[in-house]
Amino acid sequence: MTADTMTCPCGLGPSLSSCCGPIVEGVQAAPSPERLMRSRYTAFQLGTPRAIDYLLETHHEDFRQPNLKPSLESTCKSITWTGLTIVESSEDGHTGIVEFIATFDHDEEAHQLQERSSFVRESGKWLYTTGELDPAKNGPVVG
Ligand SMILES: [Zn+2]
Repeated sequence: MTADTMTCPCGLGPSLSSCCGPIVEGVQAAPSPERLMRSRYTAFQLGTPRAIDYLLETHHEDFRQPNLKPSLESTCKSITWTGLTIVESSEDGHTGIVEFIATFDHDEEAHQLQERSSFVRESGKWLYTTGELDPAKNGPVVG
């Protein structure tokens, strides 16, 4: 499959090349926190060296934990992402909030992750700052 024929992993665009592809490649800037979040999800699913760099670049440097890169690399290797649902998304041009549910397989078990992510816009670029996980809504999917 090529970028032209592959449905965008984020579920929005008909193809990767018409949706998150150019954003992850750094050719286009994400126009909104939701598109940034979607492109970061896509980057997690792609897991390529460029996608990992993109995840680093779009994570605000004041909020990067130590060893972020190796931790991103091991997440990409150990997890198979299976879907993304945007629960809520809002922005005021300077800051934004996106709540989402991402589903994934890990150790042959289906899991879900629900996070409320915060974003800030600096020099025209949206950046991820922090995410709040709701423990009640995270973990293996029962049933
Ligand atoms: Zn996309």
